[in-house]
Amino acid sequence: MSNIVAIVGRPNVGKSTLFNRLVGERKAIMDNQSGVTRDRHYGYGEWIGKNFTVVDTGGYVHGSDDIFEGEIRKQVELAIKEATVILFMVDVEEGLHSLDEEFAAVLRRSDKPIYIVANKADTNLKAQFIGDFYALGLGEEIFPVSSASGSGTGDLLDEVVKHFQTEDVENPDEGVPRLAVIGRPNVGKSSFVNLLLGEERNIVTDVAGTTRDSINSRYNAFGMEFIITDTAGLRRKTKVHEDIEFYSVLRSIKAIEESDVCIVMLDATRGLEAQDMNIVGLADKNRKGIVILVNKWDLVEKETNTMKAYEEQLREKMAPLTYMPIIFTSVLTKQRVHKAIETAFQVYKNKTQKISTSKLNDVILKEIEAYQPPAIKGKFVKIKYITQLPTHNPTFAFFCNLPQYIKESYTRFLENKIRKHFGFEGVPINIVFRKK
Ligand code: GDP
Ligand code: GDP
Repeated sequence: MSNIVAIVGRPNVGKSTLFNRLVGERKAIMDNQSGVTRDRHYGYGEWIGKNFTVVDTGGYVHGSDDIFEGEIRKQVELAIKEATVILFMVDVEEGLHSLDEEFAAVLRRSDKPIYIVANKADTNLKAQFIGDFYALGLGEEIFPVSSASGSGTGDLLDEVVKHFQTEDVENPDEGVPRLAVIGRPNVGKSSFVNLLLGEERNIVTDVAGTTRDSINSRYNAFGMEFIITDTAGLRRKTKVHEDIEFYSVLRSIKAIEESDVCIVMLDATRGLEAQDMNIVGLADKNRKGIVILVNKWDLVEKETNTMKAYEEQLREKMAPLTYMPIIFTSVLTKQRVHKAIETAFQVYKNKTQKISTSKLNDVILKEIEAYQPPAIKGKFVKIKYITQLPTHNPTFAFFCNLPQYIKESYTRFLENKIRKHFGFEGVPINIVFRKK
């Protein structure tokens, strides 16, 4: 389920300030991973338990030779096509600007919910000036906010989240794994999906700037039933470079969010590049199962140890994300394609398994006894018991006297022990400490 909030508006009204506020700490977490691109204009937000993707569309439209009108059109089209809710930002300090009217003219063609965000309303006095913007004749409501201080953003978000799809609807596909095949262009995604599904199913759209959502289809192959979120077969020709990057990033995000297990494809002849790491990081952050395919293995010249050495190098680069299986495939020669899909199923099983509290305590308390958390300032941390919480993603709660004294390195130790005994290969796991 992906809920996308797009921020549009002329330069300098405060779009990126609002973006940073909505994305908050979660963006920082994402950017901390090694190799992750820092310059991004999308991120994740959360409000009253609802998650969403925020897109600062302004960041994708740079000043070029185009006249402003063209820029506005592009920016707004991205928002109209991809967004669940559009935030149209204006500036109360400057009041109504002719460019605001140009934006409004394009936005009026959209049937998406639009909110006018009257930014820089830092004081009540300034907030009174929002009246100007009713002249735009647009939007569900006008919200005075101060992106700089955050005031007013809560009321805005309360309204925005009402448009989000909820997940309480009965799902007939419950229990059927949803797989996403993702990776940079040309790694072999379409070839892989085509081979899997046994038909030519590339869809070519060559209208500039058209978008299509990913297609979710249910399949039965190799005797197993699964849903593929297929972004692979979707091709798009566009003249604008930013658009290509924007769409491929957004498609990957959507595919990841809609999946249980991400099959991340790399090109063996190119190795792991920063963008690949970005994709893996996104999947991990979304707590999805992950399988790495090193495809085009047929093109690599091999000696006895090539595969092992390649894998070691790859794991080193991906550290600390090292829990995922790596499979060397050639879609061209059909080498290990079956194994790839089997592994994705195994990862799905791993992700949905529940370990009983008694088993967990039997095994993990012994490990803890053998290697206690280090004492801090003469205080001893005593872990009393462990239980797997009834959450969607594997989460283990450790009940102890002083949860605040547990160090990151000890958390990693516990994670490794859980992995060693219970086999969560390919699955991100969460460890939390609770006071007892
Ligand atoms: P963008 O070009 O629309 O992304 O705008 P920015 O987020 O870069 O902000 C443009 C300028 O407005 C910066 O100098 C910000 O510090 C300032 N700004 C953003 N939000 C507010 C606000 O709520 N109040 C005030 N007074 N200034 C703000
Ligand atoms: P996508 O953009 O990720 O969907 O990649 P495609 O499936 O369109 O593949 C890009 C190119 O790589 C095509 O020419 C494929 O024939 C080729 N290709 C795909 N898999 C393999 C492989 O395992 N080995 C080799 N040598 N070429 C491959």
